[in-house]
Amino acid sequence: MIDLRSDTVTQPSEAMRKAMAMAEVGDDVLGEDPTVNQLQERIASLLGKEAGLFMPSGTMANQVAIKTHIQPGNEIIIDKNAHIFYYECGAAAVISGGQFHCLGGEKGILTAKIVEAAIRPADIHQPPTRLICLENSHNRGGGSIYTLENLAGIAKLAAKHDIRVHLDGARLFNAALAAKTTVQKLARQTDSVCVAFSKGLGAPAGSVLCGSKEFIEKAIRFRKMLGGGMRQVGILAAACLYALDNNVKRLEVDHQNAKRSALGLAGMEGLKIDPEQVVTNIVLFDVGSIPMDAYTFAQRLAPAGVLLIPFGPSTLRAVTHLDVTTAEIDKTLEIIQQFLKKV
Ligand SMILES: *Cc1c(COP(=O)(O)O)cnc(C)c1O
Repeated sequence: MIDLRSDTVTQPSEAMRKAMAMAEVGDDVLGEDPTVNQLQERIASLLGKEAGLFMPSGTMANQVAIKTHIQPGNEIIIDKNAHIFYYECGAAAVISGGQFHCLGGEKGILTAKIVEAAIRPADIHQPPTRLICLENSHNRGGGSIYTLENLAGIAKLAAKHDIRVHLDGARLFNAALAAKTTVQKLARQTDSVCVAFSKGLGAPAGSVLCGSKEFIEKAIRFRKMLGGGMRQVGILAAACLYALDNNVKRLEVDHQNAKRSALGLAGMEGLKIDPEQVVTNIVLFDVGSIPMDAYTFAQRLAPAGVLLIPFGPSTLRAVTHLDVTTAEIDKTLEIIQQFLKKV
């Protein structure tokens, strides 16, 4: 089975499992897990932030960041397809009492210009704008990315209005690679940023939230409140350190494989995709003129040996990752071509 549903479906490699088994651990709620501490320090320094905090999931990293940044009744500017708005169960409303001000970015990417129009004036009728949440790369945007200039423009605008910026960087390493910049240059434009190890980096779990020392000191309490205080969790942090050492550079293979699938799909009659738009490891395509919705397409394709995720009524998503080879991408294209002949 070729599983392209997500870059979260990867299996930890034998070497990663070995690193996990050998990890030196301690009680992390007491701050005594040396492997967690090492990971937090390494990521913080890599991203140019003062401190980092290990999280069981990207969702918790985002929600703790929001809780740390805002007060109930504050408004959060966000793209309407952002993970934080779309896929986190309404958590910001429940946990932080935040109200979203949703904007329509181009493939999920906001600009200073569209953000500026959404910032609330000082008016007692209106909720104060306190936070801007950005996503890079943007999942529902098809792995779209921010240029450094664009991010810097938003950061400058936010500073002018005393608004914080949080970056959901679940796939920040993919974004930096595609933008031909560094994760640090991107992260520098934000007040807080989180990166995930359970996506393209292939670890079983774990995200790290980074920010100022003061921000992280506050965030630790909210992580505990939400049940994210874990004990000998260096076992997981060791997998993340392993991923950092071994699985970052190879992301370019995933990007090449994504581009290869996009080019292949673009040549097939009935499908709609612009390969130019595929810049990281996420491929979105439209079933366009095929008399079948995306859900049925995915369901009927599965027995042929390829798993995709329906991403809208007529949109499917394929994600490349470290457990799919270039040969399997070619095989996938063959299978889809055969499938299209039959429908
Ligand atoms: C997967 C994802 C998350 C959430 O991560 P989990 O570990 O699944 O909670 C957040 N943001 C983006 C962009 C993601 O793709």
